[in-house]
Amino acid sequence: MPVSGLSPYDDANIFARILRGEIPSRTVYEDEWALAFHDINPQAPVHVLVIPKGAYVSSDDFGANASDAELAAFLRAISTLGRQLGVATDGYRMLANHGRDANQEVPHFHVHIFGGRPLGRMIGKAS
Ligand code: 5GP
Repeated sequence: MPVSGLSPYDDANIFARILRGEIPSRTVYEDEWALAFHDINPQAPVHVLVIPKGAYVSSDDFGANASDAELAAFLRAISTLGRQLGVATDGYRMLANHGRDANQEVPHFHVHIFGGRPLGRMIGKAS
């Protein structure tokens, strides 16, 4: 069920639970500010989710309220990951869903990294 755009942070969301170590994930990267792990339902040969360790509902919340250090570290982590995952040369797509129209399902800000094959059109048709 997609989340609405400006909900308060729900500490019981699945990515908060992954951050607390309550449920497992296949971690591919971790630093002081960010965690990255394989998506449970991959849509491409490489499909990794990058999340900040801070409690932010979505890109809207993160962009408005994260510190400069968090913002910088997050983008740096994505760049590092692209190279570590081996997709920086041939290319990859970053995607962040915010709110209902974007079909955001997990209300903890995350960026998808897709790669490992040609990714086609930038955006799908509405269904
Ligand atoms: P959203 O639609 O919110 O941008 O994407 C949420 C993503 O989280 C989906 O691609 C979904 O497959 C992934 N996901 C949902 N639950 C879990 C989980 O428990 N573990 C992992 N690794 N990924 C999950």
